[in-house]
Amino acid sequence: MASSADQKAKIIDGKAIAQTIRSEIAEEVRGLSEKYGKVPGLAVVIVGSRKDSQSYVRMKRKACAEVGIKSIDVDLPEDVSEADLISKVYELNSNPDVHGILVQLPLPKHINEENVLGAISIEKDVDGFHPLNIGKLAMKGREPLFLPCTPKGCLELLVRSGIKIKSQRAVVVGRSNIVGLPVSLLLLKADATVSIVHSRSQDSEKIIREADIIIAAAGQAAMIKGDWIKPGAAVIDVGTNAVDDPSKKSGYRLVGDVDYKEACKVAGYITPVPGGVGPMTVAMLLKNTLDGAKRVIGQ
Ligand code: NDP
Repeated sequence: MASSADQKAKIIDGKAIAQTIRSEIAEEVRGLSEKYGKVPGLAVVIVGSRKDSQSYVRMKRKACAEVGIKSIDVDLPEDVSEADLISKVYELNSNPDVHGILVQLPLPKHINEENVLGAISIEKDVDGFHPLNIGKLAMKGREPLFLPCTPKGCLELLVRSGIKIKSQRAVVVGRSNIVGLPVSLLLLKADATVSIVHSRSQDSEKIIREADIIIAAAGQAAMIKGDWIKPGAAVIDVGTNAVDDPSKKSGYRLVGDVDYKEACKVAGYITPVPGGVGPMTVAMLLKNTLDGAKRVIGQ
C-alpha cells in the first residue's frame, strides 16, 4: 500500500460494487419468483477434477444460491467424450429451466473447446464466448445477447465510478478472446478511442502513457510501472498473477499486471488485486443469467 501522503489514486472497490450488483440481482430474482413463480437457472458444467476449476465452479454455484438463482450442476468425468459432452450441452439447450450454460474452461486436451462452446445456444451463452455473440459485439449497430463477464465487469467499474469513457483514449494491454479483445470492442462501442498492445507491440510503454483509461490484461506481474501511467488516468487491472511470498501460508500472493504501489501515486483511479475485477466477473455472470431468464420468463 502507498502511504497516505503518496496516495493520489482513488481505489475502485470492486468487492463493494459487486456486492451492490448482487443485491440488485437478488431483488430482481425475488420479483420474478413472486410474479411468475419461476427463477433463473444456470447450468454449470465441469469436466474432470482440476483443483482450480473446481474452486471456481464452487464459487459460482455458491454465488447463484446467494441471489436465488437455481444452479444446475453437471459434473462429468475427465474421460468423457467430446460427443457426450456436446449432447449434454444440447440437452441443456432444450431444458426450459436452464437460462444460462457455463462450461468451465479449460477442457481436457482430447476435447475441442471451440466445438463445445459453439454448441451452446446463443440465447443461453452467459459467458458471451459464442462466435455469434462476439461477432455482434464487433459489428456496428448489432447487439450481442450476452457480453463476456470480465470485460463487462471492467466497463461496469468505470461507469459506476463515474469515469468518462466517451472520446477518451483507452489502451488495452492484451488481446485474448476472453478479456483483451472483447474489452477493446466494448470500449469502442462506448465511443472511446482504443489502442491495443500485445506481446509483439513496439513502444508499448509510450502507447500506454497516452491513455486516459488503461485496461491491463497481459498476465504479466507488475509489468506496468508507475511512470508508464499518465497522471490522473483510470487503471483497471485484470491481471491475476501468483508470485512467491514465503510470508504467506500458501507460499504465494496474487498481484496484478500493474505495479500497484507506484501506480497509486500517479493514477486517478485504480482497482486493487485481489478485490477489483475478480468479484465483478462473478457478479456479471449472475447478471447475464438473470437477463437471459428475463427474456424468457413471463413471455
Ligand atoms: P492470455 O494469456 O490469454 O492473454 C494475454 C495477452 O497479453 C495476450 O494477448 C498477450 O499477447 C498479451 N501479452 C503478454 N505479454 C505481454 C507484454 N509483455 N506486453 C503486452 N502484452 C502482452 O490471458 P487472459 O487474457 O486469459 O488473462 C489475462 C490476465 O487476466 C491473466 O493474469 C488472468 O489470470 C487474468 N484474468 C482475470 C480474470 C478476473 O476475473 N479477474 C478473468 C480472466 C483473466 P499475444 O496475443 O501477442 O500473445
